Order: sequence, then C-alpha cells, then structure tokens
Amino acid sequence: MMASKTYRARRLPAHGVESGWEALLPARTPAPDLDRAITVDVAIIGAGFAGLAAAVRLANLDPKLSVAVIDADQVGRGASGRNSGFLIDLPHDISSGNFGADAVAKSHNEILIARTAIQHYARLAEEHGWDEDVFDPSGKYSLAMTDAGTEHLEAYSLQLKSLGEPNQLLSASEVEDVTGTRSYRSGLFTPGAVMVQPTALVRAIADVFQEPLRLYERTPALAIESSSIGCTVKTPKGEIRAGRVILATNGHAESFGFGKGELLHVFTHASLTEPFMPTALGGLRKWGATPATPMGTTVRRINGPDGDRILIRSRYTYHPTIEAGAATIKSASDLHDRKFADRFPDQRHLKMQYRWAGAMALTRNSVPLFGQVADGIFAACACNGIGGTKSTSAGIATAELLVGHRSKLGDIFRSFEKPQTLPPRPFTDVGARLNLAFREWRAGRE
Ligand SMILES: Cc1cc2nc3c(=O)[nH]c(=O)nc-3n(C[C@H](O)[C@H](O)[C@H](O)COP(=O)(O)OP(=O)(O)OC[C@H]3O[C@@H](n4cnc5c(N)ncnc54)[C@H](O)[C@@H]3O)c2cc1C
Repeated sequence: MMASKTYRARRLPAHGVESGWEALLPARTPAPDLDRAITVDVAIIGAGFAGLAAAVRLANLDPKLSVAVIDADQVGRGASGRNSGFLIDLPHDISSGNFGADAVAKSHNEILIARTAIQHYARLAEEHGWDEDVFDPSGKYSLAMTDAGTEHLEAYSLQLKSLGEPNQLLSASEVEDVTGTRSYRSGLFTPGAVMVQPTALVRAIADVFQEPLRLYERTPALAIESSSIGCTVKTPKGEIRAGRVILATNGHAESFGFGKGELLHVFTHASLTEPFMPTALGGLRKWGATPATPMGTTVRRINGPDGDRILIRSRYTYHPTIEAGAATIKSASDLHDRKFADRFPDQRHLKMQYRWAGAMALTRNSVPLFGQVADGIFAACACNGIGGTKSTSAGIATAELLVGHRSKLGDIFRSFEKPQTLPPRPFTDVGARLNLAFREWRAGRE
C-alpha cells in the first residue's frame, strides 16, 4: 500500500491591523473562497511574493498546467503587501568583513536572484500597463545620519564599483535636495532598485490570474496529505487534489512542521504619517531610502491625491508564535516617532496615521527553506527579510524545479545549504531577543 503522511497546520496566520498601504487603496472584492473539492496539477499555499511568482512562472512555462493558489487571508494582507516596498537589486551588506573572491561570487549570485525578480515584475508591469504608483523603477538612496554611517557608505560604494555596479555618493546638501531635510550627513544612490506600493503590486498580480490559474482567498490550508503519487490540501469547506504542492507560506512552513527548529520568526514595524501639503517639505515628492547600516531605519516619501506622507520602518522584534501583540507595536511606535523627529525636526508636529507590523522568517545561516521537503511538497519559504526579491525568485525557481526547467537561478537556489538548526527554544528565544536589541543599539541614530 502506498504510504501517505498528513501535515496539519498547528497555527494559521494572523496578520494584524490593516497596513497604511492597504488603507490608502480603494476596497477590493477578494477572489472567492474554495467551497468544494477540485483537482489541479499544482496547488500553491500562500499568495505572497513567493506563491504568486511561482504561479505566474508555472503559467509561463506550461500554459496548460492547472494551478490553484490559496491564501488564508486576502491578498495583500500578508508581509508581501505590508512591507516598505523596496525591490532591491544589490546585496544589502557587502561592506562588512572580508570582500574576497567568495564574497564577490556570492554577491553576483545575490544580484542575479534580485534582478530576476525585478525583471519578472518589470515584464508584468509592461504587459499590464501598471503605472509608477504601483511599480516605480526610480532607484533608491542609502542615507547616513552619522560619520560612521558615512564611512560605511563610502566603503560600500567602493565595493559596488569593484563589482561594476554604478552608484553615486551624495553630500549632505545633495541629500537635502532629495529629502528636504538637512539631518542626513551623506547618501548613496543606486539606480537599479524599484519602489513599489506593495499592496497594489500583489493585488495587481492577483488580478491578472486567468484560467488555468485560479486564486482562492480566505481559504486556509488546514492540512496537507502527502504521498508519492499526489497530495490533498484540506481547507475548511473543500479540498484540492494536486500532483504537487508548493508551500509559499513564509514562516508558517513551520506551522506544518517544516523547517522546525530552523526558522526565526522576526517582525518588523512601520508607521505612516498623516498627509501634508507638498510645499511643507522641500526635496522630491517621491523617494525611498534604506539606512546606511543594515539594522537602521528605512524612510520613504510617497505622494497621493490627499497630499504627501512619510513612512518610517524601524525595529525588529522576535515572536516565536508568529504574532505580534499590541504592546510590541506600541513600543515600536514610540521609536518611530523619535526617528521621524530626528530626521524631520520641522515636521515633528505631524501625526502617524497608520502603524503596523509584519512577519519575516530568518534562518541562522541566511538561506531560504527551499526545495522538496516531503513527497510532492516543495518549499519556497523563509527569505530572510529581503523577500521582495528573494521570495519572488524562490517562487520562480520552485516553479522551474517542478517542470524540470534548468536555469542559473535554479542552480543557485539548489546550491544553497540547508537551514541550520537553532539551539533549543529557551536559548534561541533569549539569544534572538538579545541579538536584535544589541543590533538596534549598535545602529544608533542610523
Ligand atoms: C514592515 C515590513 C517591511 C519590509 N520591507 C521590505 C522591503 O522594503 N523590501 C524587501 O525585500 N522585503 C521587505 N520586507 C520583507 C518582505 O515583505 C517579506 O520577506 C516577503 O513579503 C515574504 O514574502 P513571502 O511570499 O515569502 O511570504 P508572505 O508575504 O508572508 O506570504 C505568505 C502567505 O502565506 C499565507 N499563509 C500562511 N499560512 C497559510 C495557510 N495555512 N493557508 C493558506 N495561506 C497561508 C499568508 O496569509 C501569506 O499571505 C518587509 C517586511 C515587513 C513586515
């Protein structure tokens, strides 16, 4: 008799309060939930960057494949719809440590992963006429608040040059021309990043789904029965019988028992101001800046019909239950207000209108949970906080793996080592919290 195994979801996602991005968009009618039994070639669990990219790539590689994507919530409510909206084409932090041949090769691989994702969205943007409010290939800034940050940017600039990557260092007054504030010491512009409205982006992808791609929202996967000849995904009112299943549930892979003891559930937090008159702050009306050092504060200015707003993203918190409570959001809020006032002292009267948090899944050795994890089940999860690009490419690489399509991207994903096991829970809990607090302290004003 054929052996089968059932993986039950011990927990379902709870994404928390509405993000500012979602609040700024008109209400959307979600796709229907699944209310019957269906049979498809591939079932994808999770409609974030990874799951949506896997579906689009499958359709593109084999338009005859029937694919059903389900999400426990509505599209755009998960991390992919509530992030800061930077699709970054370059490694975050090649400026620390030894920049030897291995680091160069690794950086080239990271760039290929990131640019494959960006090209994937650029193609969709062109095909479907998305405007710059959804997908804006504007480049991005890295901004320094301190001398140490400036040194970091200078070293980073040199290393980007040695990789052949164009970039431009900016003085304090050049940064002021962009941001309208004199608070920053220096900056670095890199042209290849794309700024997106994350909720609008994932909604736009969901909206291009057509047969044989199907989307079911508000349809949690409660269990996956797996066997070598196929899988069944159980949902509250139906089930999906599928040849293969792609698990694109980010940290909730662990809720099914995959990546157990390997995933660190870290949240990060964002606040968005009330709108202000564009003339109240000089500089450009749209820009995005990541911090000079990795654990610092991300800032964006966005514009809309009711005025301009500033987004602040800062603080990482550890939540092994994959849920962040109100107290954590409140503590991040106080920090955001300080970071905002430090950067925009003349605008400190502005109130934050929206505050939210979102889940990321990290691994100790910074590799994704990728590839076959059980009979018929493939994971594209845990993309370590740079999911805008890495989750997208993990989804693409998983789709390629399923249909046997060889590519350099797939080779890179297959070459990743497996996620390392974390120390037992109480040690990991204490270590993760201390580590995040220490790194935030070290980032200082950045
Ligand atoms: C505030 C914030 C700012 C960030 N900024 C950036 C940034 O600027 N650039 C960047 O690259 N990254 C950023 N990130 C990280 C990035 O958003 C994530 O890495 C990325 O969205 C992960 O995508 P994903 O598709 O792997 O997972 P997710 O977006 O988490 O999608 C997983 C989906 O699976 C669904 N799911 C889970 N369990 C089940 C189940 N049992 N049944 C059905 N569905 C299920 C969830 O509802 C969810 O929609 C940020 C994250 C946050 C929170």
